[in-house]
Amino acid sequence: MRLAEPGEVPLGGGTAVQDQPGRPVFRGNGDHDYVCGQCGNLLAASMPAEWMNRKLRIRCGGCGAVNVAIEEEGVDYGSAYRRRPADG
Ligand SMILES: [Zn+2]
Repeated sequence: MRLAEPGEVPLGGGTAVQDQPGRPVFRGNGDHDYVCGQCGNLLAASMPAEWMNRKLRIRCGGCGAVNVAIEEEGVDYGSAYRRRPADG
């Protein structure tokens, strides 16, 4: 992940706050671990890439830096949110 620019405001996204360093905010069944851009602390573990879109922010529990997910080319980010919970 990268660090948020000073004054950068989430666009329709929220900031997840990590309560404890060493305890990832998200844990999934994907292939990607996401670490803090400043201190290297693990923020999200084993996540499918399509869930980590640019709207997602995580405040690091280790150093307090706000991290922004970097979108990668070729990942279908829309697919992660296509199914609404209400449908299930
Ligand atoms: Zn950090």
